[in-house]
Amino acid sequence: MTDQRRYLLETNVEDIMVPANKVAFVNEENALEHALLILTQSGYSAIPVLDHASHVKGIINTTLIVKAIIGINGYDTQKLGETRIREVMMTDIPRVNAAQTLRRAFELSINWPFLCVEDVNGKFVGILTRKNILAALYQFTRQLGLHEYT
Ligand code: AMP
Repeated sequence: MTDQRRYLLETNVEDIMVPANKVAFVNEENALEHALLILTQSGYSAIPVLDHASHVKGIINTTLIVKAIIGINGYDTQKLGETRIREVMMTDIPRVNAAQTLRRAFELSINWPFLCVEDVNGKFVGILTRKNILAALYQFTRQLGLHEYT
């Protein structure tokens, strides 16, 4: 295998991820209204949920919040302040390790717009977005000169 081909397979998740200090996230103990605020302010439809020790606990999105407050008589907005994020978040989510190569991330990103990235101690260190992965793939095709055939 050429050096260029090896480059893509040997790139680590941490080389191309969005670092934690640039990620919008919420704490699982916060109320839904806080998650709604962060989602609205950041403009993202889904963001990671962490605990107090910076461990990834799940993902929250606007659809889950709306489903949690909708009732037969319309929206019960009181629930936004009464319900905690951990009661509503999605918990069955994929995680990748910062030191892993991109192989597993490629496959997972088919179904997930972003993946939570953890260090060896299980602490949240960032996210890997589809955009990160597509940019790496694009760079790879340029290095191989493949873009010249399009
Ligand atoms: P992208 O591939 O850049 O479109 O990002 C895919 C998804 O990742 C977005 O829809 C968000 O849910 C999430 N995301 C991307 N960047 C951030 C960020 N800085 N903070 C929180 N979530 C993000």
